[in-house]
Amino acid sequence: MIYLDANATTPPDPAVIEAMLPFLSQHYGNASSSHAAGRHARRAVENARKQVATLIGADESEIIFTSGATESINSVLLSARHTCPDRSLLIISATEHPATLECAERWQAQGGQVKVIPVHQTGLLDLEALKTALIPGETALVSMLWANNETGVIQPMTEIAALAHSAGALVHADAVQMLGKLSVDVRDAGVDFLSLSGHKMHTPKGIGALFVSHHAPFQPMIIGGGQEKERRSGTENVPGIVALGKAAELAMISHIDMQPLRDALEQQLLAALPELEIHSQSAPRLPNTSSIHFPGVDAAALLIRLDQKGLACSGGSACHTASLHPSHVLEAMGYDARHAASTLRFSLSRLNTEAEIPQAAQAIIAAVHHLRAQWDPSVVVTMA
Ligand code: PLP
Repeated sequence: MIYLDANATTPPDPAVIEAMLPFLSQHYGNASSSHAAGRHARRAVENARKQVATLIGADESEIIFTSGATESINSVLLSARHTCPDRSLLIISATEHPATLECAERWQAQGGQVKVIPVHQTGLLDLEALKTALIPGETALVSMLWANNETGVIQPMTEIAALAHSAGALVHADAVQMLGKLSVDVRDAGVDFLSLSGHKMHTPKGIGALFVSHHAPFQPMIIGGGQEKERRSGTENVPGIVALGKAAELAMISHIDMQPLRDALEQQLLAALPELEIHSQSAPRLPNTSSIHFPGVDAAALLIRLDQKGLACSGGSACHTASLHPSHVLEAMGYDARHAASTLRFSLSRLNTEAEIPQAAQAIIAAVHHLRAQWDPSVVVTMA
């Protein structure tokens, strides 16, 4: 299989698995226990906290381990509603992940106000609209995707955070797709909260983290045993946490640039199929992501055909569902449902190889020709 669906989930890195394995078997202590086994687990958790903090330029005391970005995002949005009771406004963008969109719906259902900032056709946020929407004294939180999972568009987070702070609002960055691909520094960006998921950076699923700045008010969503300094209760997922720490360390030292492979894929496809449209090419984009419109081709059929040929990619919709319902991201960029229904996303990881690119391009080109031949009414099939 050629796996080009890293924005949905990445293949676990063998070094990450090797680091976590002993904590699935012999080092099974509860990190809250005071005996030697517990202390061993605790040391591993705190070491991982340091590794994650280093990756994003935070202090280790600002890192909370969670089950993944969905939990981190839910925690931030619920917390802001409670810690800023006299500020009822939440601001998000039109291209958020469903985790944020659904939390925004709940915010509204609970009596809060939500403003959704549009994006340009490039996928970049309309900063003028953000400036207009920010009401000083009323805005509790600005929560924005840093890099989009469908198109790879990178939003100007530093600028967004500065604008939000000038209105006295807290800032949350969904950095799930940034980490492991580009460097992230919470101080440079000036964000108060940041969410990440391990499985987008080569750990197994079910582990993530939340950065909460020292200065930001925070109320836990999950209460109970008081773990994570009472900010996220529940016995720590020690193997997952060790995996996330190792993945963070590898992300720091791995200098594999995915962009040459992504660009080569795009060039090879365009050379054979010049009518293709690559979304957001003029915007800053993640080096691994390519969202491509195949005019006149049913993306669902193409996805199935490619799957049969051993190539894994994703529909124009997001990583959260297997369905190909029209992408709200492409819709926000001004494309219609028909356009979205002819769009596929290819996303690479640092574990893809150069040799896979021409193979993938050939498979995609052949599948497009195959589907067009099937559906093109000008192709006359005669029977002998
Ligand atoms: N935010 C973005 C941008 C994502 O791509 C994802 C992935 O699904 C999430 C949030 C949610 O992450 P998870 O499903 O790992 O909780």
